[in-house]
Amino acid sequence: MLGDWTAEPFIGGVVSGTGADHVRLTAMLAQSIGPIHFAGEHTDPVYVTGMEGALRAGRCAADEILERRRVTEADRRSRAARRLIPRTG
Ligand SMILES: Cc1cc2nc3c(=O)[nH]c(=O)nc-3n(C[C@H](O)[C@H](O)[C@H](O)COP(=O)(O)OP(=O)(O)OC[C@H]3O[C@@H](n4cnc5c(N)ncnc54)[C@H](O)[C@@H]3O)c2cc1C
Repeated sequence: MLGDWTAEPFIGGVVSGTGADHVRLTAMLAQSIGPIHFAGEHTDPVYVTGMEGALRAGRCAADEILERRRVTEADRRSRAARRLIPRTG
């Protein structure tokens, strides 16, 4: 389906856009803060403003969360294993 968003009386156009500095800015917006991860078209450096960017950013955030869980789980196992090794000296 093809439409002209600027001709839609209740929409009037598309909202986001890119600037010269968008690669740096999207990277900043994509930075996680502790366990909080960000997704959305505004965090994708390549397809910012579009559906493709939203999908890629969602996948990227999900990967980050899974990676964090893997690291946390590996760390927990490592700590548990260290507790099992008797200390000498
Ligand atoms: C008029 C228009 C036409 C467009 N046409 C195209 C097009 O032809 N092709 C294309 O690729 N892209 C198009 N886009 C852009 C595309 O729609 C967006 O890039 C895409 O939807 C962004 O997805 P997103 O998941 O990042 O954000 P969104 O789709 O905006 O999703 C964010 C969601 O978060 C919810 N939310 C916000 N605040 C909170 C909160 N505090 N708590 C809980 N939920 C919250 C919102 O309700 C929303 O559902 C168009 C956009 C507009 C506005």
